[in-house]
Amino acid sequence: MSTGNLVVVGASLAGLRAVESARKAGHQGRITLIGDESHLPYDRPPLSKDFLNPDGVPDAALHWDEGQFSAFEVDLCLGRRASALDIAGRSVVVGDGAIEFDALVIATGAAARSLPGAEGLRGVHALRTLNDARAIRHALEAGARTLIVGGGFIGSEVAAAARRRGLPVTLVESLPTPLVRAVGAEVGSAVARLHEENGVDVRCGITVTGVTGSDRVEQVDLSDGTVLDVDLVVVGIGASPATDWLRSSGLDVDDGIACDETLNAGVPGVYAAGDVARWPSERFGRSLRVEHWTNAAEQGALAASNAVAPDSASRYDEVPYFWSDCYDRKMQFVGVAEGIDEVHVAAGDLESARFTALYRKEDRVVGAFTMNNPGHSAKSQRLIARGAGWQEALDLLARRKAR
Ligand code: FAD
Ligand code: NAP
Repeated sequence: MSTGNLVVVGASLAGLRAVESARKAGHQGRITLIGDESHLPYDRPPLSKDFLNPDGVPDAALHWDEGQFSAFEVDLCLGRRASALDIAGRSVVVGDGAIEFDALVIATGAAARSLPGAEGLRGVHALRTLNDARAIRHALEAGARTLIVGGGFIGSEVAAAARRRGLPVTLVESLPTPLVRAVGAEVGSAVARLHEENGVDVRCGITVTGVTGSDRVEQVDLSDGTVLDVDLVVVGIGASPATDWLRSSGLDVDDGIACDETLNAGVPGVYAAGDVARWPSERFGRSLRVEHWTNAAEQGALAASNAVAPDSASRYDEVPYFWSDCYDRKMQFVGVAEGIDEVHVAAGDLESARFTALYRKEDRVVGAFTMNNPGHSAKSQRLIARGAGWQEALDLLARRKAR
């Protein structure tokens, strides 16, 4: 298919990597990149970190400038939403028209969930886009008393950014521990302590029951009866895969687009990648959908090279990885944390600024969390990738510690 039309829907990380990879794979046909944001594509990780800091970048660094797009000969279709996929007609509906494809990569990512009852009230923001980040930075610059709803990644990183400015911050999380699904209860508790030590008022097992204000947010009611006076509410209660536009397509969509190991979405030539894709991981024996940067970059590249050369399609079976930066800490996680049998602190301790925790499933190491310990992160990723046993992992990390 090296001369057909490749259409990529979603002009962010997975979509960009798809374009780049198709050209690197020798695809000589047309490439159309459709994205509903009007900005040139940008990287999201800085939006909840450096971008919010007083000394941070004045604007998020853009992934690619227009020159790079022209080098890859891409028809850029920005500020345009794909509203439907017509599989029989092999086309994507955009506005009143349709763009035909021979191969398609769906990279529409995920959209931030909104807080019911607070929609449209000024001062209440999710954080997914550059525009969201600009609004939050503006409020922080004005010294906002900040409430963060959700103790996940957004909550954790925005809390750190607000405290860096010395602002009062309350964080409410509905579960007993923040980040519990991502890293488990033990490590989640350690992250909660880190926030408390840095002056965040962390309240777990609490939800928001009401948000009030005449024009902009003024007060928030919590489920324990507390009423908080606030200027800014940052909503970080998760994201949902952006699949609404595929409702009538016939694709199998259930918490993401169901793909096979090669990221094919069940129709010849149609692939998915990034936050929107769910695929069967042979390594972990279950289906995964990962909402992290490295996964989107790798899958975007693979989905496109498979789409333009399906006869030599390769499987996706990488070990998931993410990082998160808060205060002076670099947290990294490799593998999976759900459904595990044991968490063992293999270096340092959960109270210290530097530690490594390993995650066991039966007799294998399946995950590793490191706090300020990047060497252990890389080592653990290699161990998980080759299916190392639990005792071997413990012994290897212990030897590394002793050196
Ligand atoms: P997205 O980045 O969500 O891009 C999808 C694009 O498709 C969007 O531009 C969307 O508007 C567009 N789109 C959706 N529907 C349509 C449609 N119908 N038609 C046209 N276009 C459409 N991960 C880490 O590992 N480490 C981090 O430190 C980290 N920090 C993050 C900070 C923030 C604030 C956020 C929001 C995410 C962060 N992530 C981080 C996660 C990482 O950025 C995502 O996993 C990654 O952006 C996913 O890329 P994607 O291309 O799959 O989807
Ligand atoms: P998230 O990491 O999924 O965390 C959301 C948290 O909010 C969960 O702990 C969730 O608990 C909790 N929650 C849900 N509803 C709530 C409610 N009504 N009140 C209080 N707490 C509630 O999602 P996120 O932090 O919003 O991040 C959005 C996306 O950006 C994700 O895809 C994330 O991976 C990505 N991101 C990643 C990074 C990183 O990797 N460093 C940084 C920023 C953003 P339940 O689990 O019970 O729902």
